[in-house]
Amino acid sequence: MNDSTFQPRGQHLIAGAWVSGQDTFRSSPLTGEGFDVARGTTEDVNAAVEAAEEAFWSYGYSSRAERAAFLRTIADEIEARGAAITAIGTAESGLPAARLEGERGRTTGQLRLFADHIQKGNYLDIRHDPALPDRQPLPRPDLKMVQRPIGPVAVFGASNFPLAFSTAGGDTAAALAAGCPVVVKGHPAHPGTGEIIAEAIKAAIESCGVHPGVFSLIQGDGRDYAQALVQHPLIRAVGFTGSLGAGRALFDLCAQRPEPIPFFGELGSVNPMFVLPAAAEARAAQIGEGWAGSLTMGAGQFCTNPGIAVVSHGPAGDAFVAAAGAALGKVGAQAMLTDGIAAAYRSGRDRFAGRNAVQPVLVTEDEGRQASPNLFETDAATYLQDHALGEEVFGPLGLVIRVSGPEEMLTLARGFEGQLTATLQMDAEDTPVAARLLPVLERKAGRLLVNGFPTGVEVADSMVHGGPYPASTNFGATSVGTLSIRRFLRPVCYQNLPDALLPGDLAER
Ligand code: NAP
Repeated sequence: MNDSTFQPRGQHLIAGAWVSGQDTFRSSPLTGEGFDVARGTTEDVNAAVEAAEEAFWSYGYSSRAERAAFLRTIADEIEARGAAITAIGTAESGLPAARLEGERGRTTGQLRLFADHIQKGNYLDIRHDPALPDRQPLPRPDLKMVQRPIGPVAVFGASNFPLAFSTAGGDTAAALAAGCPVVVKGHPAHPGTGEIIAEAIKAAIESCGVHPGVFSLIQGDGRDYAQALVQHPLIRAVGFTGSLGAGRALFDLCAQRPEPIPFFGELGSVNPMFVLPAAAEARAAQIGEGWAGSLTMGAGQFCTNPGIAVVSHGPAGDAFVAAAGAALGKVGAQAMLTDGIAAAYRSGRDRFAGRNAVQPVLVTEDEGRQASPNLFETDAATYLQDHALGEEVFGPLGLVIRVSGPEEMLTLARGFEGQLTATLQMDAEDTPVAARLLPVLERKAGRLLVNGFPTGVEVADSMVHGGPYPASTNFGATSVGTLSIRRFLRPVCYQNLPDALLPGDLAER
């Protein structure tokens, strides 16, 4: 294997079988010919979810060693198709080959990380309060607690990470590691990439002897079947990565179900960066250039894109804006993921361009799927009055907010909505200002950075990729890193159960 040829079938994978659709849509890759792809229906959803529930009765009770072996085999099968994944992934997304290769490494790396993680067993958070039969006035029963998998999970990936946040991405890896079968709603921007990854998972299912209902991929570009998936009574949770609008609509559907379920939506963010006074004095131009680099990476199509920079009025702030504007001006047009995303980017730019008290620094015009950087500038009072300026524009658009000094920076920080990240650019002399900002930012963001840029999310034990709403729809969870497994687990307490009846993870002790 591992040649670069892959002929997509354009079918769903439902419980181990490739399934055609009566209705199809045409894929629209950036390069090469599109192909016809099955459009999912409520019947497809029912078949996949019922098979997932059936699979849970074996997979949910499998040993951690069995699941670890399964996750490692999926990683191997993905690697075996590496060249073909890069070929179809670049054609569909327009992302460069090096990016797809890096993302593939991240995807297989996180599958193996979860394999190691579940084998260590700490995630089970096992607790034991031994019986105290002689305790007065009442005896204490024997109490044991362990985290158990919740059942079938629905996964929605995002267009900008066709591998790492998609078919076998972080949500799928975490759910499978926990012991939960997965039904993926395929992303219409990369159906062929989704299919080849599904093929890798199918091969792993067969070689590990896992129930085929443990994984299904339903392709499509329609809303009805996606909504039916989150509303299916056997789905126990949803892992979603995508836009605020779609995430909020699906979150509301989950909350309105007769039996509401958790909806783990990882959404967009403007990721503010604060340039503190001493750092601005010492290296405004350097920070401005670095910001421009982070803002335009991957055509700005990252949820961690630092869309807002906060810097004081005055010569240092002017130097920051000038350097950022000059660096952005040199970047030129880049291909975006879909025509729709490129059109939405242009609407976002127009929203800024037409605003009172928002000055254009760099305004560009492109056509089709192309996008060039745009830069605007405003002041704190305008930003705080105009809610729309805080909404994500997905793409390489930056907004500089000028403040009168540290006091106004603090006022502005209090006015931000929930964020995935917040960044401080600071020197040692800025420590007192940073110390005042941090308690505010800690309440706003899932990850705080100093002297770096937030694009680039390490997959690790300590990573938190989430944040207060609207960065995510859930409290206290992350979608990246080993802690993300907790979303698909539920603590169960076993009182006075004989060892023979305890789940394997407790009985093994
Ligand atoms: P998207 O348009 O929200 O799409 C995500 C998925 O939801 C797609 O499968 C889409 O399918 C489906 N969908 C959209 N609206 C729906 C609705 N009303 N009902 C049911 N399903 C619906 O997002 P995207 O363009 O793929 O990705 C870009 C966004 O993701 C950006 O906002 C970015 O910041 C965010 N993102 C966040 C993270 C994170 O970890 N926080 C990571 C990456 C990206 P259809 O197109 O067929 O409707």
